[in-house]
Amino acid sequence: MFKNKVLSEGCVDFIDDAKIEALIKDTPEDAVKVREIIQKSLNKQPLSVEETAFLIKADSPELTEEIFEAARKLKRDVYGNRIVLFAPLYIGNYCINDCKYCSFRRSLRSTVRKTLNEGEVVQQVEALEDSGHKRLILVFGEHPDYSAEFMADTVRKVYSVKHGQGEIRRVNINAAPLDHEGYKIVKNSGIGTYQIFQETYHHETYCKNHPEETHKGDYLWRLDGLSRAFEAGCDDMGIGALFGLYDWRFEVLSLITHSLYLQEKYNVGPHTISFPRLRPAHGIQFDEKYFVNDHDFKRLVAILRLAVPYTGLILTARETAEIRREVMQFGVSQIDAGTRLELGGYSEDDKEEQELKREQFSIGDVRTLDEVMSELIKDGYIPSFCTSCYRLGRTGEHFMEYAIPGFINKFCTPNALLTLSEYLEDYSSDKTREKGYQLIEDEISKIDQEKIVKKLRERLERIKKGERDLYF
Ligand code: SAM
Ligand code: SF4
Repeated sequence: MFKNKVLSEGCVDFIDDAKIEALIKDTPEDAVKVREIIQKSLNKQPLSVEETAFLIKADSPELTEEIFEAARKLKRDVYGNRIVLFAPLYIGNYCINDCKYCSFRRSLRSTVRKTLNEGEVVQQVEALEDSGHKRLILVFGEHPDYSAEFMADTVRKVYSVKHGQGEIRRVNINAAPLDHEGYKIVKNSGIGTYQIFQETYHHETYCKNHPEETHKGDYLWRLDGLSRAFEAGCDDMGIGALFGLYDWRFEVLSLITHSLYLQEKYNVGPHTISFPRLRPAHGIQFDEKYFVNDHDFKRLVAILRLAVPYTGLILTARETAEIRREVMQFGVSQIDAGTRLELGGYSEDDKEEQELKREQFSIGDVRTLDEVMSELIKDGYIPSFCTSCYRLGRTGEHFMEYAIPGFINKFCTPNALLTLSEYLEDYSSDKTREKGYQLIEDEISKIDQEKIVKKLRERLERIKKGERDLYF
């Protein structure tokens, strides 16, 4: 697919397995040091890989609780109580790769293959808009049919679909790494984040899971994927690791290494980090050796929060509602909701059972968007569909400087409340509407600047009268 594989300028393999293994093994348990590091993080300073290793080593109940508490506090300070909602939309599951853990892998003949055609994309997007979604992530297998032009056309199509009061205001992508030219084409279609998960940063494990003769078998091409994206103008990048392939501690330290590498080289860290846990899937046999239990999963989310205070953390519906509820407090900023993974699934009648041959893996949280909204509101979160920063060009390097408390009070919270009120007007159940408006009132009463309250109330009234897409 790529005639010449041109890597980013000065590309190096910045993951040193031996160094990371040594950090995991040799970093001492040191409560005093851990508390110092927690304090640094509470002052909103990113941690080094070495400092992160101290947090990983701290597994006594007492220190674990201190880490959890610090993560909760940091999340409140940096992100407030907003949770951004999105939905994944699978466009096609043909794939030329053969990743051992994925039911889309080419050697698995029994998987039902499909690529949505234009009409089907429209139908899915309409169904998503009808439930209230404003932000999507498009997911693609890796296949010559899914060229950069195809992705860009799909993105444009998605933005063009307007159904009732609905529209999609932000389209992100999760797909294979591209070459510079490909990223430019995709960028031109107006994407938000380009997400690439390294899956595992551990070289040997990577080779075991991604056969060498496949595209994805090229570790460095993938590791370098977002560096090329940046060089080609996509400054909004999402990294991630698939937890369960190798030691979670190794993956956390590698994610931080990757994040610092991007930050140092380009002056922009990743916008988001994802940490999916391996799920049962059609035709997949699990080696449970590195399965991450719930306790360690909570620890790793809290540690990531402390290590990269300004990076969004994405928690998906792979996890059950119960785990999501718990982990959200430790610093998650985005979740998907009302998720359907089967291609074409959003326009089908509700059915309880997933048909695994048609989708990538089984999901843990099958609730509707309204059910998730209702629970978030009950738990005191502001569900948000805000897309303002990205639409006003506040991304990349600029995003960092805006993620400060004053900015949240002035922009993020009011914008979250405006998008919530749109949802309540257009899509919510009566029960959610009542609770939602109560939450809006409670949140307004916490804003201490009269000018902001006045502007916000004026916009909320305009939304009630039928205007949409108002933001600061
Ligand atoms: N084909 C592209 C790629 O591999 O980069 C797009 C991504 S794939 C459709 C989306 C992500 O799902 C993968 O990067 C992987 O982390 C995750 N995934 C694959 N199999 C999984 C499984 N069994 N359980 C949980 N997540 C899985
Ligand atoms: Fe294909 Fe991506 Fe699945 Fe690998 S993870 S088989 S590249 S869809």
